Amino acid sequence: MHLQFDNRIVNQLPADPETSNSRRQVNNAVYSFVDPTPVAAPSVVAVSTDVASDLGLSEQDLASDEFLQVFSGNQKLEGMQPYAMCYGGHQFGHWAGQLGDGRAINLGEVLTANGEHLAIQLKGSGITPYSRTADGLAVLRSSVREFMCSEAMHHLGIPTTRALSLMTTGEQVLRDMMYNGNAAYEPGAIVCRVSPSFLRFGNFQIFASRKQNDELKQLADFTIEHHFSELLDDHAPGSKELYLAWFQKVAALTAQMIVGWMRVGFVHGVMNTDNMSILGLTIDYGPYGWLDSFDPEWTPNTTDAENRRYRYSQQPNIALWNLYQLANSLYPLIEDAKALEKTLEHFQADYQGLWLQMMADKLGFLNYTKGDEELFQRLETLLSTAETDMTLFYRLLSEQNVTHYEQLEDVYYNPENHSEEFKSTTQQWLEDYQSRLEADNRETSERFQAMQAVNPKYIFRNYLAQQAIDLADKGDYSMVQDLLDILQKPYQEQQGAENFAAKRPEWARTRVGCSMLSCSS
Ligand code: AMP
Ligand code: MG
Repeated sequence: MHLQFDNRIVNQLPADPETSNSRRQVNNAVYSFVDPTPVAAPSVVAVSTDVASDLGLSEQDLASDEFLQVFSGNQKLEGMQPYAMCYGGHQFGHWAGQLGDGRAINLGEVLTANGEHLAIQLKGSGITPYSRTADGLAVLRSSVREFMCSEAMHHLGIPTTRALSLMTTGEQVLRDMMYNGNAAYEPGAIVCRVSPSFLRFGNFQIFASRKQNDELKQLADFTIEHHFSELLDDHAPGSKELYLAWFQKVAALTAQMIVGWMRVGFVHGVMNTDNMSILGLTIDYGPYGWLDSFDPEWTPNTTDAENRRYRYSQQPNIALWNLYQLANSLYPLIEDAKALEKTLEHFQADYQGLWLQMMADKLGFLNYTKGDEELFQRLETLLSTAETDMTLFYRLLSEQNVTHYEQLEDVYYNPENHSEEFKSTTQQWLEDYQSRLEADNRETSERFQAMQAVNPKYIFRNYLAQQAIDLADKGDYSMVQDLLDILQKPYQEQQGAENFAAKRPEWARTRVGCSMLSCSS
């Protein structure tokens, strides 16, 4: 197995001079060198052949013992220089100081055949200087969730980090899953994540919080040079205009990511600033969830159950709040509060515009037209009043002309409870919707095709994830594989896959893992 490494972070950014693997505060450094902890008996659960081929790995490589050893952290390939990154973050609205890669170890940056750099990192590979009081490990349950969801998001067309492999370690890890004193051993696991960059808002925040402006500038320059180089066409290196243009671009990318989440009903669950990618990628799949019934107030994260800070409807506002924190951190480079404020205002307008067009796309309009928002709002009220399966609802509208309330029966969780008033309000909405469609004068088949390309048939439903995990915990990875296959084509009807497009069964309504998750992972 051969991978070409070009470790730009290691080669160009300041390292922590201390190389012992002891938990500590790390100053003036972007990362600390640290090797993965070897594991007893690695075994492959799943690989993404897609990501493997991006990296230039062959079928033969994937089947080799070397692959097993390298991506479980037991062996280093030539050119790998493992390190953990230093970052801080606001957790649940409060500055938490230094966090860092507590259980993620970067192996290096692969230079791919088409000249792209892809950083690869192991999550769950043992303690690092940033592990604080925790063990640096990950369990199979949360690793299945991370591996599969990042791949599902990618195929849905939503910007995300990817994953190459999911392995069990052959070791047991102790976890108190619901933080209620019932600790139990679970299978340990390691996911190899892959991304052009794992830099987060928090990587910049940590330097700003410590008033280390030289390091802040160095990291910003590095990020722009390697990930936003198009900005250098119009702005001088090191200029305030350049840093401002970069912040504007980060805000724009973030808006696009969030509108993607809203389109498919994804709730991240822990939008702390350390979980916000500087490239606008979905990152750190923890207690996330997918809306079954359309409930804008829903959050999957039990740690957040009281304030619901990270609930579905709040995600755009939290993105804004997080960008505000990033703006504060970048202030020393830009020194123009007005311009930063303007950018944040622009984010709101930009997001609103993207959201309106996204809703117009979901409903099959050629373009958003002024006045459509009334239709959108009435629809959201209807969907949330009755327990309506969001995915099934939009998909039904993408597959048939829905002109009568009765046609919607299957997308509701409790249609028997619907009042006459609800039925007639829904009927009225359907009629107004039909009139709006007629105004577009669009070919029905063309409209259905366009709608099916934005309204997925298959999402990584919470209960499906849990079923796949229950089997995986017993050593049966068949459902993991089946789901991975189906979720590669989420917009395409697939023969024999009806079960994967079904609404949540009643048993899953209150089951841990299906409707609620903790941060324990
Ligand atoms: P998260 O909420 O998963 O984004 O994690 C917040 C911080 O805690 C990050 O710095 C993580 O690296 C760290 N962390 C989470 N779980 C562990 C663990 N089991 N061992 C060490 N660090 C962890
Ligand atoms: Mg995190």
